[in-house]
Amino acid sequence: MDTRPAEDSPARESGSSDFIRSIIDSDNQNGTYQGRVHTRFPPEPNGYLHIGHAKSIVLNFGIAEEYGGKCNLRFDDTNPEKEELEYIESIQQDVRWLGFDWEDRLYYASDYFEQLYQFAERLTAKGLAYVDELSADQIRETRGTPTQAGTDSPYRERPIAENLDLLRRMRDGEFADGSRVLRARIDMAAANINLRDPIMYRIRRVHHPNTGDSWCIYPTYDWAHGQSDWIEGITHSICTLEFENHRPLYDWFLDALEATPPKRPRQIEFARLNLGYTVMSKRRLLELVREGRVSGWDDPRMPTICGMRRRGYTPEAIRSFCRAVGVSKTNSQIDLAMLEFHLREDLNKRAPRVMAVLDPLKVVIENYPEAQVEQIEAQNNPEDPAAGNRTLPFSREIYIEREDFREDPPKKFFRLAPGREVRLKHSYYITCNEVIKDPSSGEVIELRCSYDPQSRGGSTPDGRKVKGTLHWVSAPHAVEAEVRLYDRLFSVANPSDDAQREGVDYRTYLNPESLRIMQSCKVEPSLREATVGTTFQFLRHGYFCVDLQDGSAANLVFNRAVSLRDSWAKIERAEGGQR
Ligand code: ATP
Ligand code: MG
Repeated sequence: MDTRPAEDSPARESGSSDFIRSIIDSDNQNGTYQGRVHTRFPPEPNGYLHIGHAKSIVLNFGIAEEYGGKCNLRFDDTNPEKEELEYIESIQQDVRWLGFDWEDRLYYASDYFEQLYQFAERLTAKGLAYVDELSADQIRETRGTPTQAGTDSPYRERPIAENLDLLRRMRDGEFADGSRVLRARIDMAAANINLRDPIMYRIRRVHHPNTGDSWCIYPTYDWAHGQSDWIEGITHSICTLEFENHRPLYDWFLDALEATPPKRPRQIEFARLNLGYTVMSKRRLLELVREGRVSGWDDPRMPTICGMRRRGYTPEAIRSFCRAVGVSKTNSQIDLAMLEFHLREDLNKRAPRVMAVLDPLKVVIENYPEAQVEQIEAQNNPEDPAAGNRTLPFSREIYIEREDFREDPPKKFFRLAPGREVRLKHSYYITCNEVIKDPSSGEVIELRCSYDPQSRGGSTPDGRKVKGTLHWVSAPHAVEAEVRLYDRLFSVANPSDDAQREGVDYRTYLNPESLRIMQSCKVEPSLREATVGTTFQFLRHGYFCVDLQDGSAANLVFNRAVSLRDSWAKIERAEGGQR
C-alpha cells in the first residue's frame, strides 16, 4: 500500500524532523509497535480551541499522515460540570477546518466509563485502591509538599472486601456527593506528589453531555487519560510538558492493571505554544467572553481558532506557522509577528487585490466629462495570473484616502498636495488645483483636480514622472462598508506573568485600542457580491475578511486580518526595541 500523503495533503507541507519524529523513527526501526503509528488529539470539551491547540493538532494529525498512521479525536470528558455540547461541536468544526480528518475515530473518554470502572474494581481487588472518607480539604492537607512527605489516611488500611463493597455502593448512588473518593494506594511518601495516593473517582451528581445521568461517580483525568490511550491502542501519546511528572502515575496504573496487549503508549512531552500579547488559558478566555470584554469566542481579537478564522486567517497559514514553530522541550514565547508573517505569505498568493478607501475625501476631476464612465481593466492578483482581471468604473468624482492629501506636505510626502501631480492606480494622472474647506471648521472637504487624458495606463507620451500612486474608488459606484481594524488584545507581551508579578488583575492589561471601527468606508463595486469569509487585499492597507454581508450596502463589514507590513517591528526598531 502506498502510504505517502497525497500531493495536496497538509502533511506535504512538512518535511522537517524533530525529537518526536526521531523517537518514532527509532520505534519503527526497532519494531516497538510493529511499525504502527497511532496518535490522538485529546481535548477536554470545556472551551473553544486556540492556537496552542492548533499546534498539538498539527503535530498529532501531521505525524499520523506522514507515517501513514492514524490519529484519533478523543474528548477527555471526565469533568461534566464544565463541559458542554457547544464545545464538543465547535472543536470538531475547528479540527476539520484546520484540514484534518479523524475518519471514523471519534471517541470519548466517557465511552470507557464502564471499562474504567471495571479496571478500578480490579485494582481495588488487588489492594491497590481504597475508598477514602476524608474531605477534599483533608486530602489536600495530608498530601504533604514537594519537600515533605504526605501522611496516610486513616482509611488506607481498610480490608479489600470493604473497599469493594463501598466502591460498588458509591457507583450505586448510596453516598452523598463529595463524601467519599476512590484513591490509588501507592505511596504517601513518594517524591513525586502525583504518586501520593491520587484520586481516581469522585461522587458528583452532575448531568454528563454524553452519558446523561447514568453515572454519579466520575473518573479523574489522571485515571482516565492513560487508560483511554491504551484502550485505543495509541502508540505515541504526545502531550505538553506539565504531564511529564504524571507519566510515572500513568505507568503505575498500567503496571497495576498488568496491561498487555496492546503495547502501552509511549508518552512524549513537548513545550506548549505561548504567544505574546494574549492569554491562552481556557479559563481566562472564558472570562473574557462571559464578561463581555470581547464579543464572543469568535471575536477576531481572540487567539481561538474560530476568532482567527473570522479575522481572515487561513488553515494553511496556521499550519505553516505551527510547523515553523516546531517542537521543543523548553518553554518559550513566540512573537505574534511570526504568526502574522505566515498569514501574509499565504494571503499574498491567494487574496484578490481590490481598492477600498477607509477615510474618504472626495475629488472632483473638473475636466472629465460629466456623464462619462470608463471601465478600466485591472489585474486581480499580480502573484496569481490565473486570478484574471476585473473592470473598475472610473468617473468624474472619486474618493481618495484623506491621509493621501496634505495641504502643507512635509518633505518626502509624495502624495497629493496643492499643485502636485500623482498617479491613480490603474488609471490617470491627476493634479490638485483647488482645496475646498468647510467654512466653519476649516476641514478639507473636497479637492478640485484635473486629469491628463493621455496618462491612462500609468504613463504619458512625454515620459513625465510622478512619485506617488494612490488608490481610489469612483464615488457614484462606491459601495459603503464598515471596516474593523484590530490591534493586540493586550498591551503587554506577558499579561499573565506581569499581572502576577505586579499583583494586579491580568485584565488591567487589556488594550483599550484593540478595536477601531471605521464607518462609511468606500469600497469598489466588485465587493458588492463578496461572500462572508473571503479575504481580499485592500491595496496599501492590508488583508481584509468579509465578516457580514447581507446584501444591503449598509451591512457589508470587513475585518482586517493583518496589515501589509509588520508596522510593530518597525516601531520597535525605531525605538531601539523599547515599547
Ligand atoms: P485545560 O487547562 O483545560 O486542561 P488545555 O489547554 O490543556 O486546558 P486540553 O483540552 O486539555 O486543554 O488540551 C488538549 C490538547 O492540546 C492537550 O494534549 C494539550 O496538551 C494540548 N495543548 C493545550 N494547550 C496547548 C498549547 N498552548 N500548546 C500546545 N499544545 C497545547
Ligand atoms: Mg489540559
